[in-house]
Amino acid sequence: MKSLSRREFSTKLAAGVAGAMLGCQADKRDAADGGWTPQSHPREATDPTIQHHNTLGRTGIRVSDVILGGGDLHEPGVIRYAFDRGVNVFDTAATYVGGVSEDVIGRGLLGVRDRAHIITKQGFSRRRPPTQRSIANLLEASLRRLQTDYVDGLFIHSMEDMRALQNDAVLESFVRFKQEGKVLFTGFSTHNERRTLVQCLQPRYDEVVDVVMFRYNHMEGEHIEPMIQALRTKGIGTIAMKTLAGGKHGHLREFLSNQLSYPQAAIGWALANNHIDCAVLSMDTYALVDAYVSASGKQTQRTNGSVLRQYRELVDNSYCRVTCTACEDSCPHQVAISDIMRCHMYYNDYRQRRKATAVYSFLPHSRKPLHCPDCSGPCADACPYGISVRERLIETHEVLAV
Ligand code: SF4
Ligand code: SF4
Repeated sequence: MKSLSRREFSTKLAAGVAGAMLGCQADKRDAADGGWTPQSHPREATDPTIQHHNTLGRTGIRVSDVILGGGDLHEPGVIRYAFDRGVNVFDTAATYVGGVSEDVIGRGLLGVRDRAHIITKQGFSRRRPPTQRSIANLLEASLRRLQTDYVDGLFIHSMEDMRALQNDAVLESFVRFKQEGKVLFTGFSTHNERRTLVQCLQPRYDEVVDVVMFRYNHMEGEHIEPMIQALRTKGIGTIAMKTLAGGKHGHLREFLSNQLSYPQAAIGWALANNHIDCAVLSMDTYALVDAYVSASGKQTQRTNGSVLRQYRELVDNSYCRVTCTACEDSCPHQVAISDIMRCHMYYNDYRQRRKATAVYSFLPHSRKPLHCPDCSGPCADACPYGISVRERLIETHEVLAV
C-alpha cells in the first residue's frame, strides 16, 4: 500500500476531523487528495442540489446561482461532489494555496471539464508591473495546473484601484487571450468597490470588463446597489462575494441551533437582487457544499429577515464593514487597516489560516501594524461601530506574521 506523505496525511486527517465535526457521510470522504481518481457522487433524494441558474451578463453563460470559491481547497473529491450537486462554476486564483487550489480543481473536473466553467485570477504587484510575457507565463502555469487548454474567466485578482486596468500589457494580453480562445471572458475581483465599480464603466475598458466579482451582503450591501445596477445596465456579469457578512455564525451561541439557516438567509438576501448573477462561497469540505448549495433558489429569503436581524444585532460591534474605510485616514502610519481586518476575518471567522497568511504576506511591510503597540489608537475612535481596532490589528500580526 502506498504510504502517505505528511501533507497527504494531514489533509486526510483534516478532512476526517471536519467531516466528523460537521456530520459528513463517510462515503463522501473516501476520495481524499492523494491518488484521487474521478468519481461521481450519485444524488440522494435528500441531498441539496442547485435549483436556479442565471445568465452571467453579456457572456451569455448560464451559471448556477451558487458557485464554488477555491480559496482553501485541498481535496478533488469536494470539487466533483459540488459538480454533481449542480455547481457549474469553480473560482480559483494562481495564488490560492500556492497553486494547489488550481491543481485540485483540475483534478476534480477530470472527465467533466467541458460541462464546467473555471474562473482563475492573476495578481499584479505595484512594485513590479507585469509585462505581456509575465502575464502569458502566469496563464500558461494556471492552465497546466488546471489540466485544461482554456479558462472560461480570467480576472485581475483583488484590484484595489484602477492601476492594473490602466496597464497596457494587461489590457492587450487579456484581449489577445480572448482572440486566441485561451480565455472566454475577462474582468476583475475587488475589495474596493468605491474605487473600481464606477471607474470600470469607462468605454476604454469595455473589451476587458465582462464580469466583476465584488463584496455584497445584508449588513451593508445596500450602499453599493446603485453601482451594481450600473454594471448591469452595461451588461457586465456580477458575482457577489462575502455574502455571509463575516461568517461569524459559527461562533455565536445563539446560532448553534440554526447555523444552516443563516447561510441560506444571507446568500438568499444577495441573490434576491436580480442584478446579481451568482454568489461565490468558499467550499472546501463536503459539509460546506451541502450547506451552501442548499441556499440555491432561496431568493425569497430576503423577506424572511429574522435570522439576519438577529445576526446583525449580535455582530454589530465586532463586524468590520467590508465597504468601510472610515478609520484609515486616522492612522499616522498608513497601516492597511481594512486589509488586515479582512485577514483577521479569514483566519478567525472563516478558519482559513492558510489564506489569511497568504493575503497578509502580500501586504507591504510598511503598512503592517508595527507601530500599533506604541500608539494610543485614534483608529478605534474613528470607528463608528466601536470596534477595538488596535487590539485586533496587533493580534492579527502576532498570528499571521511569519
Ligand atoms: S493603533 Fe495602529 S492602526 Fe491604529 S492609528 Fe495607531 S498605528 Fe495606526
Ligand atoms: S474598523 Fe470600523 S472604521 Fe475601520 S474599516 Fe472596520 S468598520 Fe470601518
